[in-house]
Amino acid sequence: MGEVRRFDVVVLGGGSGLTAAYHATNAGKSVALVEAQPNALGGTCVNRGCIPTKGLIRSAEVLRTIRDAAKFGIDLDQSSVRVDFGAIMNTIRRRRADSAASVKSWVDEAMTPFYARARFVSEKVLELEDGTRVTGDKLFVATGARPAVPDIPGLRQAPYWTNETVLELSEQPESLAVLGGGYIGCELGQFFATLGTRVTMVDRHQCLLREDDDVRALFTREFAKHVELFRDADVTEVGQTGSELSLAVKRADGSADALTADALLVATGREPNTDELDLGRTGVETDEHGWVRVDARLRTAHPDIYAYGDVIGQAMFKHTSSYEGELAYNNSQGAALEVSYWANPHAIFSNPQIGSVGLTERECRQRNLAYTCCKKQYEELAKGKIIGSPPGFAKLLVERGTDRILGFHIVGPDAAELVHEVVVAMSAASGTADLIRNAVHIHPTLSELVHQVFATAE
Ligand SMILES: Cc1cc2nc3c(=O)[nH]c(=O)nc-3n(C[C@H](O)[C@H](O)[C@H](O)COP(=O)(O)OP(=O)(O)OC[C@H]3O[C@@H](n4cnc5c(N)ncnc54)[C@H](O)[C@@H]3O)c2cc1C
Repeated sequence: MGEVRRFDVVVLGGGSGLTAAYHATNAGKSVALVEAQPNALGGTCVNRGCIPTKGLIRSAEVLRTIRDAAKFGIDLDQSSVRVDFGAIMNTIRRRRADSAASVKSWVDEAMTPFYARARFVSEKVLELEDGTRVTGDKLFVATGARPAVPDIPGLRQAPYWTNETVLELSEQPESLAVLGGGYIGCELGQFFATLGTRVTMVDRHQCLLREDDDVRALFTREFAKHVELFRDADVTEVGQTGSELSLAVKRADGSADALTADALLVATGREPNTDELDLGRTGVETDEHGWVRVDARLRTAHPDIYAYGDVIGQAMFKHTSSYEGELAYNNSQGAALEVSYWANPHAIFSNPQIGSVGLTERECRQRNLAYTCCKKQYEELAKGKIIGSPPGFAKLLVERGTDRILGFHIVGPDAAELVHEVVVAMSAASGTADLIRNAVHIHPTLSELVHQVFATAE
């Protein structure tokens, strides 16, 4: 074995891996960052996920506002409104390149980067493609996940996009089939539909399966106004004739259907980037699907190797992996913090938007919790009327007897912003509803929706 370069901390993965690297460099540690893609620092969030997709969705929102102008007394010549798809995509790609470059200049200055794929060759030793070996007192595995492409006859021979390739498009497709009704499929599908692409979505179950039932019902009702939905249906074959794709669909009741589209987006879930890591050589364990097993302190089965972010397959969100990264780093330095997903929120930037934290009503029932459920509609609110009485509601689940907030779900405008005060309340020591109930809220705001639903839970 050649020389092994030694560091205090080695981080594998330059997405949320950078959180551990940031805290380590701040503490004066020598840090090695190993990342396969030097031009895509910041990982999925910056390059293929959160930020670029929310940029696309912002364009769709602006278009929707223009289309709705007449409702607010603004007379526009709608026939003059033109979508410049190429310009939208160019803006996203330029911003993405700027962000990744700015992360890279920080990385190059603050730590020792190794831009190569790596795998473990022995306990705590990583080998890069050029044979360089690195090791550290503490190691962090944050290699993330990638799109899982299902084994459907004909799919791999057909041209299809995933979130990794769709951002390279320069021409808007006339029609698009979306496979998978999770949040990635719904957000991207809705972007294309708003811009005028004819979108058909096929989902094995229901869209946004993990959301609370009535949130999902409202979302689906609104979503189906713009997107043709095949629910409880499987794509059984993909074919191609010229530039046209054809999808054979089988519904749960056994009936068959077919659809055609110019383009296909596969958004059927994620799989972990662990298959090339040779984790077995370190004692780090994975489950049967390849997700890294960690304990509540984010330690792997090896005492000096931590893992966090998408690769552990828990709550796969950027804010969650940043939280986990700080916690894992602190634990590697002697703290004994346990990860908690109790008040870990998420949002879906669809139309209507969804913000959610805590348990769903379904989960409360499964846990036999005694709870009160309160709901308030946007249209009942002064600000709701001002913005045009959009469909949507806030829903609160409170434990009976203790006033503890169990869950909060909101579907409608600005849901992703509005959920935050409930996150703060759930993170407070008592975690009780009176924290919000007793706080004065500004009138007229959408935040009053949150306050009013808490007030009704008295
Ligand atoms: C389309 C889409 C939209 C999303 N939108 C949101 C959102 O709005 N809000 C939100 O909170 N979350 C969102 N997410 C999820 C969020 O992007 C991820 O949870 C988060 O980025 C995961 O960070 P990570 O560090 O675990 O993985 P990544 O950011 O994927 O980082 C892993 C890094 O490891 C590198 N790597 C992998 N294997 C190796 C190897 N062998 N050697 C060297 N390097 C390697 C990869 O190149 C990569 O840079 C979205 C995801 C997608 C796909």
